[in-house]
Amino acid sequence: MEQFNTMLEAAVCAVTRCGSFRFATSDEKYDTKSLLSIAGVSDAETPADEDSFYVVSPGGAIGFCEDGRDIDWLFLTGSGIDEDLPARYQADPQINFCPKCGNSVVPGARFCGQCGKAL
Ligand SMILES: [Zn+2]
Repeated sequence: MEQFNTMLEAAVCAVTRCGSFRFATSDEKYDTKSLLSIAGVSDAETPADEDSFYVVSPGGAIGFCEDGRDIDWLFLTGSGIDEDLPARYQADPQINFCPKCGNSVVPGARFCGQCGKAL
């Protein structure tokens, strides 16, 4: 699962996987446009600190990982299909992802081979 430093980055990824979302704790529904806008507002009001990050499930659900372990799923996909979402974050030991472009990079790499961002 990829890590994202801001909710907006996570939302940009999520909208490539799903077209509609719902808030995990209410029935409120969001389309891709409203999801991106609420993510931008959230980042401005409550930016994640250094130890926290957002994750996106394969189906497009967005979770917040405050301590690097437990995932608090914020947005679920609006497809009606309940995904099996993990409650714990498990870093993939083999593949890391560039925080800028999302390209997979080998563990220990100092720069992203795709966009050149220092890691
Ligand atoms: Zn990159």
